[in-house]
Amino acid sequence: MGFKFNRNCRVESLEERLFGGRDRSGDAEMGEAGGEKQDAAKPSTIGQMVETAERLFAGWGQELKKEERICRLVRQFETNLENSRQAMHELGIFRACARCDGSTPEGSCCSSGLERKYSPILLLMSLMLGAALPRQRVRADSCYFLGRKGCRLIARHMLCIDYFCPELEQSLEPKALMKLQTLSGREIESAFLLQEAIKGEIAVFSKRLLP
Ligand code: SF4
Repeated sequence: MGFKFNRNCRVESLEERLFGGRDRSGDAEMGEAGGEKQDAAKPSTIGQMVETAERLFAGWGQELKKEERICRLVRQFETNLENSRQAMHELGIFRACARCDGSTPEGSCCSSGLERKYSPILLLMSLMLGAALPRQRVRADSCYFLGRKGCRLIARHMLCIDYFCPELEQSLEPKALMKLQTLSGREIESAFLLQEAIKGEIAVFSKRLLP
């Protein structure tokens, strides 16, 4: 589990507690140009990452949709996603986040740099579920994927799914919070299983192309 972060509030991660922090300002670790350790295999800009996901989808999307295991995992993910979104809607989470985004000068916790947590495969999942990937950022100080009506992705990173700012967390009854965490956990688990299955299938498809 990585760290949890939003613009004015930072929650120390287990890793930081165990190994000590480097720069604790948040932006330095999370920001696009702020020193986050880069994965060498990852495209270096968000535009390249989006293009890579689109190329993967164009090349393998139809093949992936023919695989029975992928279809089953997509259905499982969609069910868990629907359940967790429904619970968030009923508990007023979306309203509270939209209110915060509109009323605080720094906006919601979807800050610039969080898009660097994504990978082409995770973005490919949103394409497989019918979303188009955005071609540009709406607000310079916000996550690339944040649109005028919230997140523009369907399949989101676990940090995006299970983060609640302290005010929101404190406003919820323990029973409601537990229900949300359970449903978010299922969404995260099924997203992970689908992601791993897609990686495996693409590796198999690629091998078939080798002479
Ligand atoms: S990916 Fe979506 S939920 Fe995550 S930080 Fe960006 S806009 Fe927010």
